[in-house]
Amino acid sequence: MMKPDNKTGQPGGSAQRKAVFLDRDGVIIVERNYICRAEDLEFIPRSIDGMKALVESGFELAIVTNQAGIGRGYFTEEDYHTFTDRMLSTLSMHGVRVGSVQFCPHHPTAGIGVYKTDCVCRKPKNGMLTKAAAELGVELKGAWLVGDKTTDIKAGIISGCSTILVKTGYGGSDKEVSAPPDYAADDLNAAAAIILGCAKKGTVFFP
Ligand SMILES: [Mg+2]
Ligand SMILES: [Zn+2]
Repeated sequence: MMKPDNKTGQPGGSAQRKAVFLDRDGVIIVERNYICRAEDLEFIPRSIDGMKALVESGFELAIVTNQAGIGRGYFTEEDYHTFTDRMLSTLSMHGVRVGSVQFCPHHPTAGIGVYKTDCVCRKPKNGMLTKAAAELGVELKGAWLVGDKTTDIKAGIISGCSTILVKTGYGGSDKEVSAPPDYAADDLNAAAAIILGCAKKGTVFFP
């Protein structure tokens, strides 16, 4: 398997690593409203395969997920972290390393207490992408974003990412914002194939 390029993209070094930002619910795991229990963890068929293919080709993966269920009081941050640990350990068993996981617990109107805030992280804003990119030491511009809602796509567009809307989960049916994606794909595995195809052709990035 190809060795990952150096992470920092030093001038004169090998190509800088590229990131793929992934929404969680409806992209990696089956969408159920307000997911927090262990029994809610169900991977979308082939999503792990797609993630694995990206990792093996040297991409950094980041998960960026709105989790307003926390702010609404449906579950706690601790519940969220327990669920996340379980998900990441399953991915890890399949050889998938996720370099950064960001969540937004807020909601501008339905949040309770400190969670009621018009934050910079809730998609369609891109605060989580900015933070993940900084953690990973990658550029936002030229990265990829894969999501199932228009709000995911919008966050990618304003970040200068190439965007892919998957048909799993909401499949874009939320229509919350106007955000035409660059590509459409049946699922995350198909999205990974698009990304790897573009990388190979040298289009979009690796100019
Ligand atoms: Mg989603
Ligand atoms: Zn937030």
